[in-house]
Amino acid sequence: MNQEQSKKQIAILGSTGSIGTQALDVIAEHPDRFEARVLTANTRWQLLAEQARRFLPAAVVIADERHYEALSAALADLPIQVFAGPDALCQVVQSSEVEMVLTAMVGFAGLAPTIAAIRAGKPIALANKETMVVAGELINRLCRENQVPILPVDSEHSAIFQSLIGEVSPIEKIILTASGGPFRTFTREQLETVTPAMALRHPNWDMGAKITIDSASMMNKGFEVIEAKWLFGVEPSRIQVVVHPQSVVHSAVQFADGAVKAQLGVPDMRVPIQLAFSYPERLHSNFGRLDWFTMHDLTFEAPDTERFRCLALAYEALHRGGNAPCIVNAANEIVNRAFLEGRCRFLQMADVIADTLDRATFITTPTYEDYLQSDAEARRIATSILNL
Ligand code: NAD
Ligand code: MG
Repeated sequence: MNQEQSKKQIAILGSTGSIGTQALDVIAEHPDRFEARVLTANTRWQLLAEQARRFLPAAVVIADERHYEALSAALADLPIQVFAGPDALCQVVQSSEVEMVLTAMVGFAGLAPTIAAIRAGKPIALANKETMVVAGELINRLCRENQVPILPVDSEHSAIFQSLIGEVSPIEKIILTASGGPFRTFTREQLETVTPAMALRHPNWDMGAKITIDSASMMNKGFEVIEAKWLFGVEPSRIQVVVHPQSVVHSAVQFADGAVKAQLGVPDMRVPIQLAFSYPERLHSNFGRLDWFTMHDLTFEAPDTERFRCLALAYEALHRGGNAPCIVNAANEIVNRAFLEGRCRFLQMADVIADTLDRATFITTPTYEDYLQSDAEARRIATSILNL
């Protein structure tokens, strides 16, 4: 095998986002091991063009077709194929050259390309947790049928995955840590008046806007419970959320003998991204190291599902099963955006999601088409509740 062929060819869906740009950092650190084969973005075509010029992928996709001309013109002097539109995302991941697909796009829009990649037999580095929230059962079935592995990128799930390496016995309990977000210590009264700007200031992680708001409401942790259920085959009653404001213990697994294995590290998403790319190997990184003598207080507390009702709603969706998590995800995408734009109050987000969950059509064993319809229906319902 020559040097060229030994570089893992990676398609990054959402290369202009927080995870996407950090994935490109990882590739830049290890040019001998990884190559960006495909880069994609939704609207930020200038950044996509800059990335393409630097990493020279075989193809780029701009999901928002209005930017196709501008992007093509910007890359006209380079041997890079330029595509546009959501369907192109599903096509590029199937290219025979692609060896791994990093799903770093945000929201329900990640579902179709992830399914296309799995059907084409591509290993998935999964950042787009909404895909597992919406359709975890379907994704697991497709992965089994196509013998496709999922490597978790979400830091908690990477920690759980790492804690499970070498184990053959069942999991007694997953300890899913949560930073608690910027409003961990706020009273209900204080939560009444928090603003998007306050919510966007996350204490430990620098992430995209949507997940930052989800972290402030703790819907993100609720989604991670659902993600953990499907990734590790563990019932929700065995997944315990533990608030750990320092974000040093990234999560842990407890076994039948009471032993607990955890994974610790500095909060830097490049570590789990790199491991998803290199697994089962670990590569060197300069991303920082824990300093054991400055970590004086590692603290742990129970989450408050009354102040952070979104967490309870995610458990409720899991309990109902079927398309309930899909409904909650869609309603959440609507209120998340509305909160960011000042059209929804912080605590109102959970109210709208709960009402949508009660009103939307329940389907016990949804198909892929059912998910599309449920997503659309729940968005309509949540939007109409917000506009009342
Ligand atoms: P982001 O908003 O920073 O980036 C999103 C990317 O997806 C961008 O490249 C954007 O162009 C693309 N995109 C958005 N909507 C799209 C659409 N409709 N069609 C095609 N492309 C679209 O988001 P992020 O923070 O990088 O998060 C990405 C995913 O990773 C989310 O599912 C999030 O939950 C998950 N995640 C993120 C972090 C983090 O630290 N940022 C940690 C864990 C998990
Ligand atoms: Mg996480």
